[in-house]
Amino acid sequence: MRSIDNFPGLSLGRKLLGTSRKTRIVSASALFLAACAFGAAGVAPMAPDAADLPVKSITEELAIPTLADQIASLEAGDIRYYREERVRPGDTLATLLKRLGVDDEAAASFIKADALARNVLQLKAGRQVQAQTSASGALQRLSATLVDTAGNPVKTIVVSRDGDKFKSSETSAKLERRIEMQSGEIRSSLFAATDAAQIPDSVASQIVDMFSTNIDFAADLRRGDRFNVVYETFWQDGEFVRAGRVLAGEFVNNGSTYQAVWFDEPGNRQGGGYYAFDGRSLKKAFLKSPLEFSRISSGFSMRSHPISGQWKQHQGVDFAAAVGTPIRAAGDGVIDFIGTQNGYGNVVVIKHWNDYSTAYAHMSRFAGGLHKGSKIGQGEVIGYVGMTGWSTGPHLHYEFRVNNTPRDPLSIEVPNAQALAGAELQRFRSVASDMQHRFALLSPGERGNIKVASR
Ligand SMILES: [Zn+2]
Repeated sequence: MRSIDNFPGLSLGRKLLGTSRKTRIVSASALFLAACAFGAAGVAPMAPDAADLPVKSITEELAIPTLADQIASLEAGDIRYYREERVRPGDTLATLLKRLGVDDEAAASFIKADALARNVLQLKAGRQVQAQTSASGALQRLSATLVDTAGNPVKTIVVSRDGDKFKSSETSAKLERRIEMQSGEIRSSLFAATDAAQIPDSVASQIVDMFSTNIDFAADLRRGDRFNVVYETFWQDGEFVRAGRVLAGEFVNNGSTYQAVWFDEPGNRQGGGYYAFDGRSLKKAFLKSPLEFSRISSGFSMRSHPISGQWKQHQGVDFAAAVGTPIRAAGDGVIDFIGTQNGYGNVVVIKHWNDYSTAYAHMSRFAGGLHKGSKIGQGEVIGYVGMTGWSTGPHLHYEFRVNNTPRDPLSIEVPNAQALAGAELQRFRSVASDMQHRFALLSPGERGNIKVASR
C-alpha cells in the first residue's frame, strides 16, 4: 500500500483559514485549486450504485465563502482558525499542538489527563488531526480518528471547549464507500502503469489475481497493453482510508481482451468470484504461472525474459526469477512429495484430481508447515525460488504431469469452474451490463475485438 501522503486528492493536507484578512482570501482560492486537483485525480464521491458510476467527474462541491462574506465575518470578529496537520514521527503533544496553531495550556493538560482525549497521544505518524482555535490560539475543538491495526477507522475522538473547561466525546467512525474507475496503458511495467494511473497497490494485485489464469504477468505483457478497472475505495471525512474490492476489470493483452466482473450473492454455491460477461467463471484449474507476481518480485522488463514460460526439451517449463520469489501452487491439491531429489534439488510435487500433478524444483526453501499429505489451495505459497540441484542459475523448473508423464501445460485443456446458470445468471447479467457500459464509455471505438476471458 502506498503511503497516504502520495494519494491523489489528499494534497489538501493542511488547510489554513485566516491568520489575517489577506491569507484568508488567499486560502479560499487555495481551497478551490484543491477541489480541482481532487477532480483531476478521477475521484468521484458517489453513492455506490453501479448503475450510476461516475466517470472522472467532480460531483462534490466545496463551499467557498464569498469575499464579501469573509470580510463581513472578519469585521464581526468571530474568526475561527481551522487547521489540519498530520502526526509526524517524533511528535509530542506540544509539537503537534504548536503546528495546529493551538496555544492553550489548559487544553494540553486536559488532553493529557482525560482518559478518552489522551488517545490523541497514541496516534501514529501520518494520521490527521484537525483543530479549530480562536485568534489567540485557544482551542475550540480538536478531532482525530483512531484506526485499528488494519488502518480502518474505528472511532473519532473530539475534544471541545465547554465554557472555560473542556469535554471529550467519541463517535463511531463511518466509512464512505466510493466507486472509482481508472484506465492505464503498459509502457514499461504493470506497476509503472498503475502508479501512473494512481491506482493503489492492493488494486494492482487484484488485477493480477483476477487474470492470472489467463495472463502470465511476468512474461505475457506487451508494451501498449491496456486495462480498465472499477474498484471500491473507502473514505472518511474526505480522507482516503483504503481501497476495497475490484468490481470489474478489462485487460487487453497482446490484442486479446479479457474481462471480468465480480459477482457474489448470498447463497451462491461457489462464493463470490470473477466471471466473464457471459457468466462463465474465470477460475481455472491451473494458474498460468506459479510465480507470484508483485511489485517486489516482478522485475518485469520489456527487453529481457530469457527463459520464462517456455516449454523445454527437458520436459518442464523454466521461469526465470530472483532467489526468494514466492512459488504458488498452480491448482488445488495435496502434497505428494516434499524434499530433495538429486537433479531437482528441493522439490515439491502436488497431486491434483484425476491424474494431474505438478512439480516445482530448485527451490531455495519450502514454505513453513508443509508435509506430505498437506492440503493446498490454488495460489498458496509452497516455497521460494532458488538454484538447488542441477541448476545453472536461479529459476523455477515447473512440470505439469498427466499420469506421471510431463506435458506442456499450455497444451492441456482442463475444465473451468462451473458457470452461472438460471436466476443467478439473470442477476449476474444486470450487474455485468452496467460494467460493460462503463468500459464502453472508457474506450469508445475500441470494441469489437473482444475474446471471452476464459478462453
Ligand atoms: Zn527446467
